[in-house]
Amino acid sequence: MITIEKAGRLKQLPPYLFAELDRKKAEARARGVDVIDLGVGDPDLPTPKNIIDSLAAAAREPRYHRYPSYTGMNDFREAVGRWYRKRAGVELELKQIVSLIGSKEGLAHIPLAFIDPGDVVLVPSPAYPVYAIATMFAGGIPHEMPLLKENGFLPDLEAIPADVLARAKMMFINYPNNPTAATATRDFFVSVVDFAERHNIMICHDFAYSEMAFDGYVPPSFLETPGAMDVGIEFHSLSKTYNMTGWRIGWAVGHAGIIGGLGQIKSNIDSGIFEAIQVAGIEALEGDQQCLADMRAIYTERRDVLVSGLRQLGLKTESPKATFYVWFEAPPGYDSAGFASLLLEKAGIVATPGNGFGAPGEGYVRMALTVARERLQEAVDRIVAIGF
Ligand SMILES: *Cc1c(COP(=O)(O)O)cnc(C)c1O
Repeated sequence: MITIEKAGRLKQLPPYLFAELDRKKAEARARGVDVIDLGVGDPDLPTPKNIIDSLAAAAREPRYHRYPSYTGMNDFREAVGRWYRKRAGVELELKQIVSLIGSKEGLAHIPLAFIDPGDVVLVPSPAYPVYAIATMFAGGIPHEMPLLKENGFLPDLEAIPADVLARAKMMFINYPNNPTAATATRDFFVSVVDFAERHNIMICHDFAYSEMAFDGYVPPSFLETPGAMDVGIEFHSLSKTYNMTGWRIGWAVGHAGIIGGLGQIKSNIDSGIFEAIQVAGIEALEGDQQCLADMRAIYTERRDVLVSGLRQLGLKTESPKATFYVWFEAPPGYDSAGFASLLLEKAGIVATPGNGFGAPGEGYVRMALTVARERLQEAVDRIVAIGF
């Protein structure tokens, strides 16, 4: 028998705020409740057929069965470069593009390349938890930038204390945003570039929801901003755009020095993405794009059902211009966890308490549009029936 002692980096992890909710969800299912799960941000729609066919054909080719190149196949990275030229009007050289085993992998590894113990990383809150945790794993100190309604859920860069700025080396931002569904203006990105230059801070922009936008809205890439390429990089993936969360393929692009550092960490940790998946990734980016219009139409319908239902109930929410999340205020008398518990116990609906993404998310609840429109309508009807 040996004693198993976890490393300090695991012991310092914040408590898992969804544990209680996970337990209640399992209990409800065990009781036979027909649970409507609006908790997870994972598309319910299948990957488009042309992409699957491309993988199936490539998987049969022995030349793709060997170790992939660390930084990604040139063909795939060139396709990413063409996508950026078309989508954002920016030119990228191959050394400015690294493929990732999903963008989460790159977001989790980037602090290892640049953050020493004691360095500060500016992270939004509420946020995707990876930014702060990856910072801590590298020995860095996350400094939370609250995302507040009065600022349109954008961080207030001028509110960051000078002593924090002096030690800050990196900043994460994410627009269109998970969990608030907020979008960034080009002006905000201009202020981020100016801030980065003034304080010598690397910018890591998470652009996971770039194509999941509605009503004709086209989210700007951070790299479109003049000077952005000199201060930062952008993370992206095929996960949300093409319903490929299980495939694990993404990339980071931008400043060659930052991309090079990330690539160096990766070449010492992993061995890249199965090349047949990269071939299918090229098909995703350059094949028929009708799937995007279909995806947007489906989420638009679902969004409208849920948003109008919540508003009829008197719940305050913006109709999201992008992402498949609806971020709404818990009704008076309830905090995030209290309202999420009520929804689960009385209506069999799983929603995510906003404070689980960080303390400034308290008072909010997030619902993901990852079930059919009819199920969302049923969710609304069930909430009406409990009459909180
Ligand atoms: C879903 C999501 C990602 C994408 O993760 P992959 O690893 O590419 O599947 C990245 N950032 C945010 C904020 C997300 O919600």
